Amino acid sequence: MATKSKQTETPVGQATAPSEGNGARGAAAQSAARSIQIPRVLTVKELGELMGLPAVEVIKELMKNGVMASINQSIDFETAAIVAHDLGFEPEEAGADVVEEVAETAQARTVIEEEEGAALQPKPPVVTVLGHVDHGKTSLLDVIRRTNVTAGEAGGITQHIGAYQVHTNDQRITFLDTPGHEAFTAMRARGARVTDAAVLVIAADDGIMPQTLEAIDHARAANVPIVVAISKVDLADAKPDRVKQQLAEQGLTIEEYGGDVICVPVSAKTGQGIQELLENILVATEVLELQANPNRPAIGTVIEAQLDRSRGPTATVLVQTGTLQVGDVAVVSETWGRVKAMFNEDGRRIKTAGPGEPAAVLGLQAVPQAGDLLKVVPDDKTARQIIVQRLREKEAATLHTQPRVTLDTLFGQISAGKMKDLNLILKTDVQGSIEPIRQSLERLSTDQVRVKIIHAASGSVSESDVMLAIASKGIIIGFNTREEPGAQRLIEQEGVDLRQYTVIYEVTEDVQQALQGLREPTYAEVVTGHAEVRQVFQLKRRGQVAGCYVRDGTITRNDLVRVLRDGQPLADTKLASLRRFQEDVRDVQAGFECGITVEGFDAFQEGDILELYRRELES
Ligand code: GDP
Repeated sequence: MATKSKQTETPVGQATAPSEGNGARGAAAQSAARSIQIPRVLTVKELGELMGLPAVEVIKELMKNGVMASINQSIDFETAAIVAHDLGFEPEEAGADVVEEVAETAQARTVIEEEEGAALQPKPPVVTVLGHVDHGKTSLLDVIRRTNVTAGEAGGITQHIGAYQVHTNDQRITFLDTPGHEAFTAMRARGARVTDAAVLVIAADDGIMPQTLEAIDHARAANVPIVVAISKVDLADAKPDRVKQQLAEQGLTIEEYGGDVICVPVSAKTGQGIQELLENILVATEVLELQANPNRPAIGTVIEAQLDRSRGPTATVLVQTGTLQVGDVAVVSETWGRVKAMFNEDGRRIKTAGPGEPAAVLGLQAVPQAGDLLKVVPDDKTARQIIVQRLREKEAATLHTQPRVTLDTLFGQISAGKMKDLNLILKTDVQGSIEPIRQSLERLSTDQVRVKIIHAASGSVSESDVMLAIASKGIIIGFNTREEPGAQRLIEQEGVDLRQYTVIYEVTEDVQQALQGLREPTYAEVVTGHAEVRQVFQLKRRGQVAGCYVRDGTITRNDLVRVLRDGQPLADTKLASLRRFQEDVRDVQAGFECGITVEGFDAFQEGDILELYRRELES
């Protein structure tokens, strides 16, 4: 793991103008504002050096802006730019090469999506198995794996590395072998998009159960196609038709009933339907046209990682684009390493891993986390620079915590065009409360925002609900329910908005109010009149009173006012009092005289013009 002491290795931006010695600051420097190039992240000390000022000046300026930072603290460009500007500099963002190369998660993912068409080749779909506990997910994964071991490969020791590939009809499918929507959504919550399709396992004897419903919602929230495997059809009390009906009730209409959901009866015990399931996974994912370019440096996602006593940090990476090779230098989150060796799921050494392929990678300096992005970089030096940059960005980011979606920030997020759906997760005490609340909430949808209940169930708020909220940028609505301790921790840690209610009316009212904030009020200014100051009186208790003549319009007691002298505004405030002959009055018409005091202004001169106006809500 890189340490903070390495920060000094990183070049920071240089001041472009020659340093004119210390002390050029404030208004004095403003006349000849020097432009300085500020990197995306730098320490307080470095910013001081760039400006030729002691760090303490920077710290003081930061404090004025409400940021408490120490000398070695990293700050981001935006913060540094404000300080630099206040100190009389003209900040510009330095276009550091490293910064461009930094494999920001989002950026790297864009690379995956924007590969040039010519270089693209089909890649195997990555599939996750979801479903209720004991419905046979693990057994299904085992039997798929066993029946598809390529002949001649026997001898390798089956390893659990987190994923494996099978061959079907000359095509391949990659299975993630940690089943369940918790792991699936936890990856999504970390920003990783790994799974292309979900296999929903439903036991034929048991039918749709609470976790099946959860799994459906989690798969839908991820927008991945669902292939249903009705499992355990070998059992005497198997009722596959009942499962099909239950699916239809959940809006998953299978092909047999005229819908488009593929459904395959399977048995892990007899092997029935396994081949058909695989073929149908390929059918369901064909439309996705999954492609990648194998001829570029690899980008992938860590799906599992641990510290192996003899081998050191081991991470299973699912390559998403490019080809990962032994000898490559890769950056993963805040660690890096040179790939020493790679193993496949049979425990065999491999030299390369292409798009859609999983590989256990040795050689990283620290154990990364599942969901971390791996990116191959040209060399050690670049890797180190990226790590330093990331560590600094992380530190800088702690200065401004990014709020997640909350009912309070909803308005801003939607008006900034960042949100079209308000994703809600609804947990209630009893099943019967779900529908009325769902309906009244969905009715609140407006032209700009659709209120979408992505998951509704009875029971307490669980960790997986919170993960879903994070992954889908959603808000959790609890109704007469409580949160599990693990969920509570995660909510606090991640700043997820959980609202607990006991009255339906309050749920809808709160959400409606948050949505109404959307309609940002716009005001039009309407000038109501002008008055000329003809005489100024100094009163002991009330300060200055302007004796005025109303030139045009009408002056009203509640008006706003601008004091103009030679056409220039001296004050923009509101009327404090309006009198005629010592009497307070509501309004004064054109052609009359009156006495006026205004809030916060006490320096009238004869000849000043008062411009009265109102702000009116535009419809
Ligand atoms: P998971 O919790 O969804 O991973 O379920 P498991 O794969 O652990 O299976 C739960 C139980 O169902 C185990 O006792 C399995 O032996 C049994 N089981 C799984 N698949 C089948 C099947 O196709 N037929 C029968 N008869 N039993 C099965």
